[in-house]
Amino acid sequence: MTKIEVPADHPRKVSLDVREKLIEGHEKNIVATAGLLAHGRGEAFDYMLGEITSTQAMDACRAAVAAMLLAKHPVISVNGNVCALVPDEIVELSELTRAPLEINLFYYRPEREDAILEALLAAGAKEVLGTHERPSETIPELSSNRRKVDSEGIAKADLVLVPLEDGDRTEALKGIGKFVITIDLNPMSRTAVFSDITIVDNIVRAVPLMVQYAGEMKDWPHEMLDVLVAGFNNRRNLSSEVSLIKAHLTSQIDSKYREDEP
Ligand code: ATP
Ligand code: MG
Repeated sequence: MTKIEVPADHPRKVSLDVREKLIEGHEKNIVATAGLLAHGRGEAFDYMLGEITSTQAMDACRAAVAAMLLAKHPVISVNGNVCALVPDEIVELSELTRAPLEINLFYYRPEREDAILEALLAAGAKEVLGTHERPSETIPELSSNRRKVDSEGIAKADLVLVPLEDGDRTEALKGIGKFVITIDLNPMSRTAVFSDITIVDNIVRAVPLMVQYAGEMKDWPHEMLDVLVAGFNNRRNLSSEVSLIKAHLTSQIDSKYREDEP
């Protein structure tokens, strides 16, 4: 299929360009068909948030990077959507926070795993965990394919960053004592609520921002990083994101009616 060139002045250019990346990823076997639908759910929330990174999301990104820098064995879990949308940035974040990348797929097919591995290596990854020939262990109380985790990765991690995660797995990771960070546009998803730190933002904006913060914070003393993590409250964070959605929707309706008034 030929790639559609979205005109530069199209009001929804950024969003349409992101869709094109996912479609391309789907054609290369990187993105599962259900991944396209999951993205649609994300887009709906992004629309309601005004498609910008809120100050709350920036604070959550800072706390998340601080927690990653403080962790003994941080790991970044990668799925097809992450690999299709932010391959270079996720590799950079992995290097700056010394958190290895682990492929973990709900819709597992060997050719998907191979396509994702190839794309991560092309983006500069030196090592990728979670591939089928590596030693693995299982997460109890989880029946899906994703119960399989790498012995050197998520199995021994104290902290896992799971961008775009399913609620069941987040709950299972919490159940085995992991500190969980997620990036999820829906502040009401089970993942958002189960996680220790939820960045309510689009991964296409949040991951580059985390890379920037990791570059700035990587040599900070532990005490300064501790302050950021201890000062973060996820419940407060999620309810203020819900308030932002309400305020944004109300202002959209109000401005529409003002335009129509004589
Ligand atoms: P949960 O299982 O946590 O209740 P869910 O079943 O609604 O969530 P899933 O399909 O399991 O959703 O996971 C997809 C999640 O990823 C959704 O919450 C969606 O909002 C979010 N999402 C999709 N695309 C993006 C993106 N580009 N950036 C951030 N979040 C996204
Ligand atoms: Mg789900």
